[in-house]
Amino acid sequence: MRVHPDRIVTHADGPPRRDARYVLYWMQAAQRPSDNPALDCAVEWANDLGLPVLVVFGLMADYPGANIRHYRFMLEGLAQTAARLTEKGLGFRLRRGSPPEVAAAYAGEAAIAVTDGAYLRHTREWRARFAMDAGCPVYEVDSELVVPVRRASDKREFAARTIRPKLHRTVDEFLTEPLNVRVAVRWPGDGVRLQADTGLERREAPPDAFHTESDLQDLDRLVETLPVDRTVHAVTRLYPGGPDHARSRFEAFLDDRLVYYSDNRNQPHTDDSSGMSMHLQFGQVSAVRLILEAKKHLDSYGPEVREQYEDFFEELLVRRELAYNYCFYEPEYDSYAALPDWARQTLSAHAHDERTPLYSLEELEASKTDDEYWNAANTEMRETGYMHNYMRMYWGKQVIRWSPTPEEAFRRVLYMNNRYFLDGRNPASYANCAWIFGLHDRPWTERDIFGKVRIMVPAGLKRKCDMAAYREKVDRLVRFMNGSV
Ligand SMILES: Cc1cc2nc3c(=O)[nH]c(=O)nc-3n(C[C@H](O)[C@H](O)[C@H](O)COP(=O)(O)OP(=O)(O)OC[C@H]3O[C@@H](n4cnc5c(N)ncnc54)[C@H](O)[C@@H]3O)c2cc1C
Repeated sequence: MRVHPDRIVTHADGPPRRDARYVLYWMQAAQRPSDNPALDCAVEWANDLGLPVLVVFGLMADYPGANIRHYRFMLEGLAQTAARLTEKGLGFRLRRGSPPEVAAAYAGEAAIAVTDGAYLRHTREWRARFAMDAGCPVYEVDSELVVPVRRASDKREFAARTIRPKLHRTVDEFLTEPLNVRVAVRWPGDGVRLQADTGLERREAPPDAFHTESDLQDLDRLVETLPVDRTVHAVTRLYPGGPDHARSRFEAFLDDRLVYYSDNRNQPHTDDSSGMSMHLQFGQVSAVRLILEAKKHLDSYGPEVREQYEDFFEELLVRRELAYNYCFYEPEYDSYAALPDWARQTLSAHAHDERTPLYSLEELEASKTDDEYWNAANTEMRETGYMHNYMRMYWGKQVIRWSPTPEEAFRRVLYMNNRYFLDGRNPASYANCAWIFGLHDRPWTERDIFGKVRIMVPAGLKRKCDMAAYREKVDRLVRFMNGSV
């Protein structure tokens, strides 16, 4: 096996099933046809056994916290991924149902089952349940991180400064060109009927609930028939999903915008960051690939982009992997109780400070506050599914100021973050929402309401950023979303 052994976690060991028909890859986190170490493992094993690979995706309509915005983006990506996998000679099945159950149904004819990286509570439980039901060896491959989460550290890290040296020490071992192993035995074709197909057809009662890979060719119809939360709109017009879009967007970033990356980190009216977070959230692009491509760019352009490359590397490696470390080692990552003691104590000491004005969650969601900058940021998030990093910090901090208690502020920040952002519901969502309340940060000068938790104030925004230009940008984006540009 050429995939780095520290990427592979054994959930159920043993010899491959005899008389099997394929090696199964249960795809969930890494929704991409290349630069995918889980897929590489499946193909390598299949090649050794002289079998084809079947990739299976379980589509559940009530995925925790997901709404039509997320589903649409994900399905756009899956349509591209399914097409590429088929071209490469792999089988692909999309079935409605709980992901581990769909995977287990197909494991019955598999020699070996491989799945990709799981970092959140429910996805880790799914892997464990699947391993019990599969009846064949099951391996999980850490597919979404540069340095696998267990290898980077064996505990919840305190801050960026504690995980950084660990990541820097090991990163070169993992920052290698993805294998993209070619299949030796092609999937025999789509006439193939499998036990699991017929079994799942029987179990899934209403006909419109039974989706197949061919439905991906008519996305509008597929999306229409999904019984999912539609109270938030899709944002395809601005941010189409999929590995192909991720690649072209990243190329444009490297060619035209990386050079401004460091200078514009706190300039929300600009668009000089990579825009990769939404694609990373659905595994449509690999973090290893992004760093390798940025490094090639550095090699060709030299010192002119060194600072920019290093800042980008810090975000994508250190900040992102710190967030994954938090969710992996902190079982209550989505809870106020998991904040550092000093932060909870200082917020609690100021819990009775006067808060005026106080806004309801509905007022916040509708951008009805007396802060025009905050309203613009919130509108960008609600209408487009994205927000510049600098405004995300400001946005979250003000919610503390305007909520009756810090606990309620925490619930609101996380709720809105995960409901509206395309990149929401990700380890970076939980860690950064908690950062607003002091996680991975240090105590600052004591103030009202916030205690020693870092504050951000409108005057600071006004001084450092071109807020008039930011508001114009948001107006433009909203007009574009409404079809009037
Ligand atoms: C309150 C708040 C909420 C946030 N919510 C989310 C969220 O739901 N999902 C999410 O992916 N990020 C979140 N972030 C982190 C960051 O704002 C976004 O990752 C970034 O703005 C995405 O834009 P980009 O891809 O252009 O980033 P770039 O600047 O191009 O960075 C490259 C990549 O590095 C990673 N990254 C950058 N900043 C961070 C960070 N602070 N923590 C972890 N990873 C980082 C992302 O994967 C990003 O795509 C949040 C930050 C704050 C302060």
